[in-house]
Amino acid sequence: MKELICICCPRGCHLQVDETQDYAVTGNACPRGAEYGRAECTAPTRVVTSTVAVRGAAYPRCPVKTAAPIPKGKIFEVMATLDGLTLRAPVTLGQVVVKNAAGTGVDVVATRTLE
Ligand code: SF4
Repeated sequence: MKELICICCPRGCHLQVDETQDYAVTGNACPRGAEYGRAECTAPTRVVTSTVAVRGAAYPRCPVKTAAPIPKGKIFEVMATLDGLTLRAPVTLGQVVVKNAAGTGVDVVATRTLE
């Protein structure tokens, strides 16, 4: 039995996931918790947020995030890619800054506009 706290909403339900019963979830107040508990124990994913260097803008770094959750095991590879990247202003909100980051099929996008 694995114990988790659901991070899908501020209520933070305490979940129990039974690996021996096909990842049956208890302690969840709604179906999202069951889905989260099962996914967290079988194929955990996260949205990655970070910043990337940018030249020619009022600020030296641009905030970015993955457009969707990626496997946790790919996070460091994506961060290494972002570490070596420098954008050129202007950058537009939603602009793809890395396509198919670390082969996940998910793009990294800018989360603000920098003129
Ligand atoms: S199980 Fe539902 S109510 Fe409980 S924290 Fe998760 S999303 Fe919120």
